[in-house]
Order: sequence, then C-alpha cells, then structure tokens
Amino acid sequence: YKTLKLILGDQLNLQHSWFVEPDPTALYLMMEVKTETDYVWHHIQKICAFFAAMESFENTLSNRGFETLYLNLDHPNNKQSISGNVLECIEKYNIEEFQYQLPDEYRVDQELRNLCAQLKIASKCFDSEHFYTDRDELTQFFSGKKELIMESFYRAMRVKHQILINHDQDPEGEKWNFDAENRKKLPKNHKPNPPLLFDNNVSKQHGRIVANNIKTIGNIKPEYFQWPINRNQSIQLLQYFCENCLQLFGTFQDAMHTDEWSLYHSRLSFCMNTKLISPSEVINTALNYWENNKKSVAINQVEGFIRQILGWREYMRGVYWMQMPEFEKLNYFDHKTKLPDWYWTGHTKMNCLKHAISQSLNLAYAHHIQRLMITGNFALLAGIDPDDVDFWYLGIYIDAIQWVEITNTRGMSQYADGGIVGTKPYTASANYIHKMSNYCEGCRYDRNEKIGENSCPFNSLYWNFHDRHRAKLQHNPRLSMVYRIWDKMEPELKASVLLRANDCLENLNQL
Ligand code: FAD
Ligand code: SF4
Repeated sequence: YKTLKLILGDQLNLQHSWFVEPDPTALYLMMEVKTETDYVWHHIQKICAFFAAMESFENTLSNRGFETLYLNLDHPNNKQSISGNVLECIEKYNIEEFQYQLPDEYRVDQELRNLCAQLKIASKCFDSEHFYTDRDELTQFFSGKKELIMESFYRAMRVKHQILINHDQDPEGEKWNFDAENRKKLPKNHKPNPPLLFDNNVSKQHGRIVANNIKTIGNIKPEYFQWPINRNQSIQLLQYFCENCLQLFGTFQDAMHTDEWSLYHSRLSFCMNTKLISPSEVINTALNYWENNKKSVAINQVEGFIRQILGWREYMRGVYWMQMPEFEKLNYFDHKTKLPDWYWTGHTKMNCLKHAISQSLNLAYAHHIQRLMITGNFALLAGIDPDDVDFWYLGIYIDAIQWVEITNTRGMSQYADGGIVGTKPYTASANYIHKMSNYCEGCRYDRNEKIGENSCPFNSLYWNFHDRHRAKLQHNPRLSMVYRIWDKMEPELKASVLLRANDCLENLNQL
C-alpha cells in the first residue's frame, strides 16, 4: 500500500469523500484500543455501541471493495493505542503517506499531531465533512465580542445556511425562537409514542470487553441491544422521529416523567456523534417533513429541534476548540466535594435523582433536562468537583464524547467556566422539578419544605449555593431577584435553611 487512511471510532461517515470509491493504493485502518476504552469508566452499552457500529462500518467498506484492517481488542498485532498501531502499520506495509480526518477530541488531535511530527513519511489531514461549521468558525464569529451568546450565533447560522428563512430573509413564522410556546409538563394520562428500539445483538463485542477486563459501568442485555449501530438504523430512527415525535418535540422538550424515558426526544445523538448520519441530513429531513405536514407539525416544534442541532451542537463544538485545553481545568466556584457514591448506583432517597441515575445506568441515556436540571443541578448546588462531574458524564451516556460532553457539563451545567457558555448558573429548587415532572409525587422528601430533615435537599442547597457564592454572583442582573428574595427572608428562617443545607452537605451519601 502507498497510503494508510485512519478511521476513528467516531468517524463512521459513509458519505465522506474518502468513501466514494475505493483507493486501490490505500489501506483503511480501524481499531479498538485500550487507550480509548480506559480513559474514563464508560457505560458498557456505549463501548458495545461504538464497537458494533465500527465493525459494521468496516464490513460495509470491505463489501464495497475497500482494503481494510480492523484491529479488535483481541487482535494479536494490536498495540492498544492509536499511535502504536499506526506506527506498526506504516512499518509493516511500507506506507508512504499517512492520512487522517480531523479528530473531534483535543486529546486525540494532540496525539495525531505529535505522531505526524515524528513520522519520517508525509502525512495529511482531511476535514471530517460532518459539521456545518469549521473548527474555528465560532472563534471568528465572536472575535472582538465580549460574550459568546448562542442565540446570535444560531441566527447567523440560520441565515448562512438558509434554514427556516423566508424570501425576505426573515425568520420563518416571524420569530427566531418559539421557546415561550414550548416546555410544558406532560399532562396526566398523556402517553407519548413508544421509542423505536432495535433488536441488535452485541454479544461478540460484549464478550471481548469482558474478556479484556475493561472497567465499565451500567447494565446491558447484549443479545437485545436497542441502540442503532449502522447507517440504515440511524436513518430509520430519524424517520421514526419525524413521523412520531416531531409534532410534540418542542412542547414536551423539558418534561420529565417516571414512566417515560425518551418522551418526544430523537435519541439521535449517538448516530450523529459517530457520524453515521450528518446534522444536515437530520435537519433537512425534519424540515422536509414539516413542509409536507404543516397541519400536524407546527413551526415551534421544528424550530426547537433545529436550534438544538444547528445552534447548540455547532456552538458547543466551536466553544470547545476556542477554549481547549484550558477549559478542562476551569473551576470558577472552586468546588472540591467528591461525587456522592449513589451517582454510580442510583441508591438515593431523592426520587428525581434515583430515577434519572437509574435510567442512565440502565439505558445509557437521559434527556437534556434530566442531565441539566436533575443530576447537573444537584452536583452544582452540592459543590461537586467539576473533574468528578465530567468523569461521570463522559462515561455514562451513549453519546458522550468530550467536545460535546465537557462544554455541556463544565460549561452549561456547572458554570465552572464562569459564564462562557451560560449567562447564569442553571440552578433550581424543587419548585421547578415539580413543575416539569411527576418525580416529587413519589418522593420521601417534602418538596414544599426547606427546613427540617424531611425537607427536599434541593431547597436548602439552592439557597446555600447562592449565599456562599454571593460575591461571584450577586451582580449578575439575571440573579438580582434571587438575592432580593433571600435578603427579605426572616433571619431565623435563613439560619435554619443554612443549617439544613449544611446537614445535607455533610451527609451527601445518606440523602
Ligand atoms: P434531542 O432532544 O432529540 O435533541 C436533538 C439533538 O440536538 C441531539 O441529538 C443533539 O445532537 C443536539 N443537542 C441538543 N442539546 C444539545 C446541547 N446542549 N449541546 C449539543 N447538542 C445538543 N450531548 C451529547 O451529544 N453528548 C454528551 O456527552 C452530552 N453531555 C451532556 C451533559 C450535560 C450535563 C448536559 C446538560 C447536556 C449534555 N448533552 C450531551 C446535550 C444533550 O443533553 C444531548 O445531546 C441530548 O440529550 C441527546 O439526546 P437526543 O438525541 O434524544 O436529543
Ligand atoms: Fe427531587 Fe426534592 Fe422532588 Fe424529591 S422532593 S423528587 S428530592 S425535587
């Protein structure tokens, strides 16, 4: 072979120009390596999904006449690191040029840059042809501006890509944002459509992971694996979403319920993050469906969905490349507390956390509001070290890849970046959780109380958080109301609230 083309586990993009037709002089290399399985404790379903999707991708390529080499965990020649395997192949096959696609993770990007710097042969990097934006497009967009406001970036993307923009170059439906119509609680007796689950068998991949003693978390039934693991299934999931979920996506985007785990969410994040499908395919399919079904799908639903992908997803990627590697270390509030043990088991008396965590352990999935306003909110109020919080989020979800995990966790959810991603910390007491879910109904704690041992821990911790970080937060105009209410509270009540919060903080593992 003349060329070695590396395909990373999250670069399963059959639409990429590399795969238009086989290059007979190239060897296409894919690998399962311990440096990738071991940098965090991944959910067992996550590793199985990645490996199964990678194997299926390699199969498709080789059926189409591409010369592939797939080094699985058990392969005798596997050096168990990306660089190790690339070096070995270059030597073994007398390769003249090494090629790779831009990695999405800083860690892998550095590794490949360092590797190329050492190589005696030529190397070449290609775009991954997946995102709407280039890596540094956001940096350029915000250059000279003080704040990175997602909404302004999103609007510019709408115009640039002519998405939901009418002939006069105004937003479709006369508004950029329909949030005010969205975000309702699930009404009693409302039954969302069931999620589309696949019947995949990942026993082979599971066996390899177990045999190699990879430390994992969470549960799995390998012979009945529900996540999509190839392009066909990803397209089916997208189609199913348009026909069954899009019509109420925006309305119930923030709703949570003990009996429903997916509600009207698309669960497409794994397919997109591995590049089995592209964001533009997802957006165009949803747009197309909306255009043909305007009677059943209102604009607020489709706009809400598109904003997540064209807005948030591209924005987070841009912030990542703008802020790394410093971002990884940010800890604005200097939080140091260890993550409570029950994040790994779900064994807590707090019903909302019990549900969100057990669901995550069972399904490798929680939707955005469960991540942000239940597990993330608690970690922030309790002052958990953002390193611990990142470690948990980076492992537990099927879609967790650092570029989109850390920006959401350290940035949006923990405000450890001091306000790069969000304009204020996302905190809430039981009031909000009760407003958006039925969690409080079955809880041992009283959502209406903020003092005493039966009171909901979120309530006292909420005030404790704002009180202890007053110097850093009180001048934020979006928090002036919070401090007004706190300042008006009777001193004895305040003291009791802080006492209860201290009690919670000292006994986090017992809550
Ligand atoms: P839907 O609700 O159907 O939304 C559609 C798509 O929009 C998603 O598939 C996703 O690609 C995109 N999207 C929505 N919100 C965001 C967002 N805030 N940032 C980037 N893209 C978004 N997403 C990940 O893909 N990987 C992660 O590791 C990850 N970690 C998160 C950690 C925390 C603390 C929080 C608050 C959010 C995190 N998110 C992450 C964002 C979001 O929660 C998930 O993308 C979403 O829940 C995936 O489920 P879905 O495909 O059903 O999404
Ligand atoms: Fe969660 Fe508090 Fe509601 Fe219990 S009462 S479910 S701990 S918010």
